[in-house]
Amino acid sequence: MPVANTPPALTVAWAADAEPARAWLEHLRTRAPHHTFLEPDTAIPASAVDVVLVAGPLSRPLDRFDRFDRLKLVQSLWAGVDGVARSIPAGVPLARLVDHQMKAAMTQAAVAHVMSAHLHHDEFRRSQRERRWQPQAWRPAARRAVGVLGLGTLGEAVATTLRDLGFSVRGWSAHPKSLTGIESFWGDAQLKSFLEGCEIAVCLLPLTDKTRDLLDADAIRSLPRGAVLINLARGELVVEADLLAAFEDGHLRHAVLDVFRSEPLPASSPLWSHPCITVTPHVAAPTQIDSGAELVAENLDRLASGLPPHHLVDLKRNY
Ligand code: NAP
Repeated sequence: MPVANTPPALTVAWAADAEPARAWLEHLRTRAPHHTFLEPDTAIPASAVDVVLVAGPLSRPLDRFDRFDRLKLVQSLWAGVDGVARSIPAGVPLARLVDHQMKAAMTQAAVAHVMSAHLHHDEFRRSQRERRWQPQAWRPAARRAVGVLGLGTLGEAVATTLRDLGFSVRGWSAHPKSLTGIESFWGDAQLKSFLEGCEIAVCLLPLTDKTRDLLDADAIRSLPRGAVLINLARGELVVEADLLAAFEDGHLRHAVLDVFRSEPLPASSPLWSHPCITVTPHVAAPTQIDSGAELVAENLDRLASGLPPHHLVDLKRNY
């Protein structure tokens, strides 16, 4: 909901590479002409900056936020804030982008990969390569157990859509959830029993100190034999060597990886050519600049009017 009257002007700077920043500038200047958006690669009068916009992991040029003595808000242009959250000076709020178009894109990507696993497309691709006529048995979705790790903005949208498509859905989160028709598991103590019931597991967790390397050999081997793992969140959630080892004895049937420890995925990575892995180049839910700029403009107006910005990150838990 836009703020009613034109609020006082804010000065907004960038901690983003020039290219994504330029793509946003025109949209932001159109939607919020009363605020001053600095050019991304000009010298920054740090003491005059009210808001810093960040896109992705902080590299340059504003990675020392403590120089900004009147900084009132850091606004991420990404949904994930793992590259940013630790750099925020005490007392400055961090907001992230929560966008309905991103939610729609993530839901479509997750449903496509789950359907593909449900209907054995990965196995058909492998048998085609070997010119092998190998039918697979069909099963009703209600008898296919799908688990979603992370039931936040994106995970909840994915889990409820899969439920509405008829799958048997369970979800794992930090706190208990009550979502109609979705079995809730929560906390470390219930991770193993959650994973044991996931023939297809979709990972939509944020990357934090608690979730880094979460999907290691123990976790992967808690999935039932022949499971499919779909990671659409962050590469560092999965221990790559343990994932590769789980294909060797057929424990895992397939993995879809949209995110990687190093992006772009280096040409030398064994993941590219592995017959049991589908690689997509971090495209599950790209930031949509048109709708994203509306949300950023609204947050700037809220801040300037003394209202709390939307979608603030809890800096104690970093998501
Ligand atoms: P979110 O709203 O912050 O939700 C995070 C969920 O993870 C919450 O349900 C939370 O549980 C759960 N969680 C966090 N730490 C946990 C832990 N230690 N144990 C169990 N559950 C835990 O995040 P979101 O907007 O859905 O986004 C999720 C991630 O998707 C982002 O952080 C980003 O990395 C990734 N992403 C990827 C793409 C792409 O294109 N591939 C695009 C956008 C985002 P509670 O609800 O109980 O707190």
